[in-house]
Order: sequence, then C-alpha cells, then structure tokens
Amino acid sequence: MNHIPFNRPYLCGGELEQIAQAHRDGQLAGDGGFTLRCQAWIEEQTGCARALLTHSCTAALEMCALLAGIGPGDEVIMPSFTFVSAANAFVLRGAVPVFVDIRPDTLNIDENRIARAITPRTRAIVPMHYAGVGCAMESIVDIASRHDLVVIEDAAQALLATHGDRPLGTFGQLGTLSFHETKNIISGEGGALLINDPDLVDRAEIVREKGTNRARFFRGQVDKYTWTDVGSSYLPGEIIAAFLWAQLQVANEITRRRKAMWNRYHEAFESLEAEGLVRRPRSTANAEANGHIYYLLLRDLDQRTRFIEFMKGANIQCVFHYVPLHSSPAGLAAGRAPAELPVTNAVADQLVRLPLWIGLEDEQDRVIDRVRAYFDQVPARSRAI
Ligand SMILES: *Cc1c(COP(=O)(O)O)cnc(C)c1O
Repeated sequence: MNHIPFNRPYLCGGELEQIAQAHRDGQLAGDGGFTLRCQAWIEEQTGCARALLTHSCTAALEMCALLAGIGPGDEVIMPSFTFVSAANAFVLRGAVPVFVDIRPDTLNIDENRIARAITPRTRAIVPMHYAGVGCAMESIVDIASRHDLVVIEDAAQALLATHGDRPLGTFGQLGTLSFHETKNIISGEGGALLINDPDLVDRAEIVREKGTNRARFFRGQVDKYTWTDVGSSYLPGEIIAAFLWAQLQVANEITRRRKAMWNRYHEAFESLEAEGLVRRPRSTANAEANGHIYYLLLRDLDQRTRFIEFMKGANIQCVFHYVPLHSSPAGLAAGRAPAELPVTNAVADQLVRLPLWIGLEDEQDRVIDRVRAYFDQVPARSRAI
C-alpha cells in the first residue's frame, strides 16, 4: 500500500514557465512585474486597499507589529491555539501576548472572552481564522473600536474564504496571508500583508524596504531615496513571485477541488458523529471556508494517539496540531493567560487532521475506510467523545 502523506505540495504546472520568464526579464530582486501582478490579484480578490508580498506570513505579522507601533510592555490579545508567529512578532517588540480561550465550535478565539482580557496596556487583538473558518469579526471589530485597539487578522489559512460574503483578512486594519507549502496556494515560503486602513500604506512600504522611501523613489515621487523610518527587508524576490503568479491563476480551481474533498470527508463521517464517536468541524452560518483543513475531534489524547497509530498501520499519515502557546516554554516566559483555557487544552489533545491535498481524490476512499475501520475495532464505551 503506497504512503498517503498528510500534505503534498501541489504544483499546477505553470510555475517553471513563469520562473523562466522572470529570469529572461532579468529582474530578480523584489517588486518587479511578477510581484506587482500578484499584489494586484490579491487586491482584486480581497478588496483590500493595498497588498504587499512578503517572505512569509511571519514577516507580514512582524510588519504589523511595527505598523501598529507595538512596544515594550504593550499587551496583545490572541488565541493560545494558534501558530507561534502570531506571538513571536509582538514578543520581538517587547510586548506581552495575552492568551484567550477559543470557541468550542469553530476553534477560533472566543469573542465573548476578549473584553475581560483587556487592560490599560492592551494595544491590539490578533484573531486567527482556523482552517479558513471566519472568526466572529463583527464582534471583534466592535470590541476593538470601543477600546481603541488595532485588529490584525492572521488569515494565513484563509485565502479565498469569506465571512458574510466579505473576504477574510479585510476586517482588521491589517491582515496577513501565508503561501507556505502547507497552505492552499503556495510559493514554498511566502506571504502577504493586507492593508485595509489606507493611512498605513505609505509607512508599510517603507517598513518593508529597510526603512527607506525606495518605493516612492521608483514611482518618481521623490528624486532620491533615503532612510526615513525603522524597517527591515520583508520583500520576496521575483523568482518566488513568479512561482506564486502561476498558482494564483488557478487559485479558485484549487480551492474548489479542496472544498470538494472536504465535503466528501464531512459527508462520510456524518454517521460517526451521529453515533457520538467523533465531533466534525463546525462553522457559523455566515462563514464560507476554503477547504484548508479537515479535522476530527476524538475523545481524548489516548484515543487520538491510538487513532494516529492505526492510520499509520495503513500507511496513512494523520497529524495533530498546535501545542497551545500558553503552555509552551516560550509562551510561559513571555506571555500571560488571565483566565483558564479549558477548550484550548482539550482541543489540543483531541484534534487530528486528515490528509487533504490536490491529487488525493483517487485515494480518499482509502482514508475514509480506514477511519471507519478504526471505530469498528474499539469498544464503544472507550471511544465515545
Ligand atoms: C502557516 C501559518 C503562519 C505562518 O506562515 P509562514 O508563511 O510560514 O510564516 C502563521 N499563522 C498561521 C495561523 C499559520 O497557519
């Protein structure tokens, strides 16, 4: 039986041709034609005021921390059930990540717990759209505006997903995307900053270009470029942008195919949920996700460990997800959890992700049959969630 990995990066076929074109064009540094085309595509698809390609979503989050003026002792509210870059970006500026529990349905930050975590030092909220399912953005934006906080949406997993017909990443002043090879649309490493507050555009260009006004210089708006602000090098080269451009051409098709596989899993496991053996992913009425992750929640850590082993026995790789940041060594040192996080702790032990990648279609039934076989071979009383 051949191996079914958890992820296999999808190459759409046009990448090498676009890279060859970048090579022929002779501009290999950033902000050439391919970067501009990718940014225009993102702006058109999302409606953000400005999109800037970055090396990674991590880099885009670091830019957000600079643009929001986060400094030592400031507090930034985020879920603990998220990727480490959301916390690191702010810890690098001397800030304190303040961890809040997630909702048991979407596994996104629980908007009803945010207000209680706000102190006079709070500066920003960083919601993350897990599996491309939108957070309760109306409530979060409302809380933020009442307390004068910046909203930075970690939309790393959420390209082409919407909440109430509005693309994720466009609710906060700033949003971030990832094109890491584990995401839906990829360039190996890669990311983008979405700027929704037009007042932040000029400074974002400067922060991304080593603190210089080089972007204005290239547009002929100033006659020489110089150091004007803090910044770093956050822009990818044209080879990466050329690869990404090929992927963006087929981004909607990739998303459609991933959603079809997601739906197939979801229908296949309906009866397992009805029997109380698993909990399937939940969404909210106005969220339209993008087929990024299909997960199941099992009874406990012991069941999950057995499940992953059982799948491995059939050469199928299933994986768990985040070690909660509030209980990680760096999170304990740099962060703070003002209240208990029971949902985060439970979900971190219960969640398992199933293989989901373009090309899996022909073998998806093998995964589904093996999942069902797992629940056939353990006594009902020890497997019910
Ligand atoms: C993947 C991911 C990131 C980091 O993306 P990179 O492009 O690898 O830096 C950040 N946040 C979340 C929620 C992610 O899933």
